[in-house]
Amino acid sequence: MSGFDTFEHSSDMRRRSREWRTVGETVVLVPTMGNLHEGHLSLVRLARNVADRVVVSIFVNPTQFGPDEDFGAYPRTLAEDRAKLESEDLVDALFVPDEAEVYPFGLEDAVRFEMPALARELCGASRPGHFDGVAAVVCRLLNIVEPEAVVLGRKDYQQLVLIARLVADLGLGVQVVSGPTQRHDDGLAMSSRNRYLTADERERAPVLHAALADVRDAVRGGARDFARLESDARARLREAGFGPDYVEVRRAADLGAPAEDAAPGELIVLAAAWLGAARLIDNVGI
Ligand code: AMP
Repeated sequence: MSGFDTFEHSSDMRRRSREWRTVGETVVLVPTMGNLHEGHLSLVRLARNVADRVVVSIFVNPTQFGPDEDFGAYPRTLAEDRAKLESEDLVDALFVPDEAEVYPFGLEDAVRFEMPALARELCGASRPGHFDGVAAVVCRLLNIVEPEAVVLGRKDYQQLVLIARLVADLGLGVQVVSGPTQRHDDGLAMSSRNRYLTADERERAPVLHAALADVRDAVRGGARDFARLESDARARLREAGFGPDYVEVRRAADLGAPAEDAAPGELIVLAAAWLGAARLIDNVGI
């Protein structure tokens, strides 16, 4: 079994990262909320190719959850997570701060972020403040670990675009690297929230990816009535028992509204939908 150091304190984490950089080694951070699955592990493997030292953080960030969301229920599985990272010898350090390490002045008195308008569209429309909370935690983690690069999953595509914007706009000088969505064999994107699904819901869950793949195929085949494609996809989700939140075709580069004459390669289709107690999100590049 391999070994890596686990740091609970920001000062210890930062010291280790600076020791590495002092001897010329580069550092990459893979931020997570734990309950690690193959999606997370794929990002850690990607991180290995990006820098000399890989830091994984596990922190269930309270500021990105709304008052009625699943912060309390979110799966916390540190022992299993640690075993997964150890078994593959993937990681040089694990950072597991508590709330006071990340928000030393408390949640009420924390410096807050107000992300640009995109943060209030798509997932942000039904999760007010979510991306402001994501920005708050990612910025803090980057300031603590001081990595050269951060690795994020394209599964959370809106988050990826907004973090890239945060890094560019604040001049953080960190390379943002993204990895592809890992899926189960039936197409369902791997997610910690899949465990909220009943057996019956789990069987229907792949319809989300299938509906997005159909939009992709239609656009690739020349269809350009995006509103129609989106409403057809929502109808299909409702038929399968989902409560669709949104299905939208957007520009992949910045998630702006797509021009009708956009080339398929410039587009992406994104969706969020409730299935039972789980709010599932997914996206497919067109
Ligand atoms: P989370 O622990 O859900 O906050 O996710 C941590 C990181 O893993 C984020 O960058 C996510 O985009 C990424 N991630 C989550 N699920 C997947 C997946 N199925 N495939 C690839 N990356 C993922």
